[in-house]
Amino acid sequence: MIEVRSPADGRPAGSVPTEGPDRVQAVASALRAAQPAWEDLGPDGRKRVLLEWGDWFLDNERRLGELVQAESGKAWADASLEPAMSVDLINHYARHAAEYLAVRKVRAHGPVGLTKRLEVRYRPHQLVGVITPWNGPIGAPMLDTAAALMAGASVLTKPSEVTPLAWREAVRGFTDDVSAPPVLACVTGGGETGSAVVDEVDMVMFTGSTRTGRAIAQRCAERLIPCSLELGGKDPMIVLADADVDRAVHAAVWGGMFNSGQACVSVERVYVEAPIYDEFVAKATEAVRNIRQGTDAPGMFQFEVGAMATAEQLEIVERHVGDAVDRGARITTGGKRREPGLYFEPTVLIDVDHSMLCMRDETFGPTLPIMKVADEVEAVRLANDSPYGLSACVFSRDVERARSLSTRLEAGAVNLNNSLVNLFQFNLPQGGWKQSGLGSRFGGEAGLLKFCKAQAVVSDRVALPEPYWFPTSKLKGRIIGRAARFMGANDWRRRLGR
Ligand code: NAD
Repeated sequence: MIEVRSPADGRPAGSVPTEGPDRVQAVASALRAAQPAWEDLGPDGRKRVLLEWGDWFLDNERRLGELVQAESGKAWADASLEPAMSVDLINHYARHAAEYLAVRKVRAHGPVGLTKRLEVRYRPHQLVGVITPWNGPIGAPMLDTAAALMAGASVLTKPSEVTPLAWREAVRGFTDDVSAPPVLACVTGGGETGSAVVDEVDMVMFTGSTRTGRAIAQRCAERLIPCSLELGGKDPMIVLADADVDRAVHAAVWGGMFNSGQACVSVERVYVEAPIYDEFVAKATEAVRNIRQGTDAPGMFQFEVGAMATAEQLEIVERHVGDAVDRGARITTGGKRREPGLYFEPTVLIDVDHSMLCMRDETFGPTLPIMKVADEVEAVRLANDSPYGLSACVFSRDVERARSLSTRLEAGAVNLNNSLVNLFQFNLPQGGWKQSGLGSRFGGEAGLLKFCKAQAVVSDRVALPEPYWFPTSKLKGRIIGRAARFMGANDWRRRLGR
């Protein structure tokens, strides 16, 4: 059994079994057996089931938020976001799936193609595996589960062993309370259970660290099955001298501290043009100092920043801050752990550079390292100086200037004069570049079609014999050759074969 404890105070939050390969295989078989009928229901039938699940989320909103909070130590403001976001995701995919899955008509190619009718239809992978990390116990699995179910797949989920409780309850709600067809399951355990999922499914959707993502991609390559990976990030924010400094500070502080900095698209490093650097640092320090930290009672909305989810993550943050200070950085506020519980004080670091861990590796904690840059050229160079490319943001009062600068950024999503908000645009295809990901993400049509196989269908408008059909003959060969030359050539000399 895995005992889950609250990172806020160490209290037991619940326990789940570690499920091994045999159990995973049995669950996978049952899901496969149920999938054909689920696909046959069509998008409208599936929509009815998913919308009922959305209603169930609303009816159980507070209880689910409490479970999220108990296992993650989030502030209530962060915990309560997850059921709400889940409802939004369910609604989005339930309402758009029919349009996304509609058969596409394709124009035939060349004069011979005029006799053909071409279309592309989308069929789901029968069994999709969704493996997720601990920073969004319900939100992370839902980002893909709603889309995969609406695509017509059966879905085998494996939440993080750190936070399995709320998601397991959400899946129980789908099966027991909504009485939905048995096309969604949750298996629990650590990396080995995840590995067993990868070995059973037809497509893997993984969200988590780059290291695990690489291992999963290798296994998927061996099995020749597709995978889509959403991995780590080190998202930069660029603040140009003509920016609205107050807005940029708000966005940097929220973007860096949201969910205690444990968001894939967190603002992890800030580059500020020299003329406004001092003002930005002073205001950011003040704003971060004013953050209230703790894990409040449900419904209180008393704190902005909660606990870190694991002791290991807290140690990473501590190590990054310590390394920065050892190399000459200064802390303007925060900088140390706060006990009891797994808390790290919201922290601002200045005098940082790219020799430091906090500017190179993913910190995934409530820190805001701020670096002075001479101009936008240096800002772009430093922003791109990273193996990651998840998202980025640019601040300037001149939006066209910010837009133009964003075309030089190596990132799968860019927010102009804002931070993090790309995460909530469920209609926007997005995914990490470089070591931040492979494949596409939750947004819109792309987010649903990634769970499908495209099937090309050719039919005849008029049932004529095909010119290439047997038997061959000299005369037929000559006619076909001439016709192909006539249609393929770009000038009259070649057309006429001279
Ligand atoms: P992790 O990679 O350690 O674990 C993620 C999941 O993979 C867990 O459920 C884990 O049990 C499972 N797992 C571990 N080894 C496995 C294996 N060999 N085969 C199959 N599954 C395996 O990540 P984490 O520490 O839980 O989460 C933090 C990371 O997630 C950070 O790097 C963060 O940036 C990333 N993340 C990325 C996004 C995104 O959308 N890009 C979103 C949230 C988090």
